[in-house]
Amino acid sequence: MKGKSLKEIQDGIRQGEQTVLEIVDYYLENIEASAALNIYVEVFAEEAKAQAKVLDQKVQAGEQLGSLFGAVISIKDVICYQGHKVTAASKILDGFTSQFTATALQRLLDQDVIVIGRTNCDEFAMGSSNENSVYGVTKNGVDPSRIAGGSSGGAAVSVQQDTCLVSLGTDTGGSVRQPAAFNGVIGMKPSYGRISRYGVIAYGSSFDQIGVIGHVLEDVGQFIHSMSGRDEMDGTSSSTTVLQEVAPASSYKFAYIDEVMNHPKMDQSIREASQELLKNLTSQGNSVNEVTFPLLKYLVPAYYVLTTAEASSNLGRYDGIRYGHRSEKADSIDNVYQQTRNEGFGKEVKRRIMLGTFVLSSGYYDAYYTKAQKVRRLVTEAIDSILSENDCLILPTSMNVAWQIGSMDHDPVAVYLSDIFTVIANLTGIPALSIPLGKDESGNPFGMQVMSKSYTEAQLIELGKVVQNTLTH
Ligand code: GLN
Repeated sequence: MKGKSLKEIQDGIRQGEQTVLEIVDYYLENIEASAALNIYVEVFAEEAKAQAKVLDQKVQAGEQLGSLFGAVISIKDVICYQGHKVTAASKILDGFTSQFTATALQRLLDQDVIVIGRTNCDEFAMGSSNENSVYGVTKNGVDPSRIAGGSSGGAAVSVQQDTCLVSLGTDTGGSVRQPAAFNGVIGMKPSYGRISRYGVIAYGSSFDQIGVIGHVLEDVGQFIHSMSGRDEMDGTSSSTTVLQEVAPASSYKFAYIDEVMNHPKMDQSIREASQELLKNLTSQGNSVNEVTFPLLKYLVPAYYVLTTAEASSNLGRYDGIRYGHRSEKADSIDNVYQQTRNEGFGKEVKRRIMLGTFVLSSGYYDAYYTKAQKVRRLVTEAIDSILSENDCLILPTSMNVAWQIGSMDHDPVAVYLSDIFTVIANLTGIPALSIPLGKDESGNPFGMQVMSKSYTEAQLIELGKVVQNTLTH
């Protein structure tokens, strides 16, 4: 197949060097070759080929094509696509078929995107390793003895293994950026409200956003752009103007938090690469400013109090009556609810429903839920203040590389704590990008995040280019 970026792929098609069908076949071969990694829960092979043929005929006939023609994507198993199954990697949605298509996906389909399949993820997007899936773990594309990351693990590996051009994931607390970093690809979460959540299975509604994983910044930006904008079906979607491009500035102001860069638990190779990047950004004429952020230790607790609270409410609808799986054992209505939920949800989801129900209970509401909301506001104020003085905040995506599969099973809290650097963007609603930063001595990739003010995605893509150029020079 010709071309790494969408533009190159489209040029190749227009010049008759390749057909859309050849591209689809190329990806299907890669899907087969990487089957052992457990990336896809379903591949839409015949449908994708049929759609490719229709597009090829349009090319032949010189007909008008959508702006994303030639792009083949995978979607995380939490995004509704009419007439296709969707399960959130949970037994409780076994057998459920989407009744409609998510607005964001529809906007891509309208531009001639082809969906090649749905990818594995943590159950209801809860996790950081893709180990909490009814389909089993997705393996890391670089080292299959390690986790892919999560919750959009399948999405990241689907790009890393070249089984599609870009992949749609969701990011509630880092689920697009962290697996992207662990597999050496780009991941971006837009501002909260930028992309409609209609048709995306909810985890934490005030945090969730669709994000994009890809190889090339321009493609990631273009996909975010194509999905963006107000949707009447999602009251939280924003009508703020979407800019696809902004003029690059000659230099930028980068902020960093010393406590983050020198975190005692940070892998040595990540620390070194981050320091090196700061130095090089400075020597290239950017201003790199240390800022204080005393709320670091409250991020993960506030995030998990609020998201489990929202999850416990969102998951109330899975009762065995309306969707998917229903227990065979139940002999009374109460039993239908109880048994169905007991059989249908996995361990991590149950843990979070219990945690969320607890923090929302009348006796503890103020102590946990209200307190966490106050922390969220303080974090937002602190980050807004940093970003009023600087163009962006940079910090590593994670303080470690992908861990060995199974090695963290005994310590769910340690896994929660590993989300510390990504949840900032979801607590505050700002857009965030993860760019491959380097590899440790064993070749395991890690990433650097860039975060900018809400609704400045186009500028964030420019900032990403500056970081990329600094890394390659
Ligand atoms: N690891 C985080 C969690 O488990 C983030 C998940 C996500 O972004 N969907 O909540």
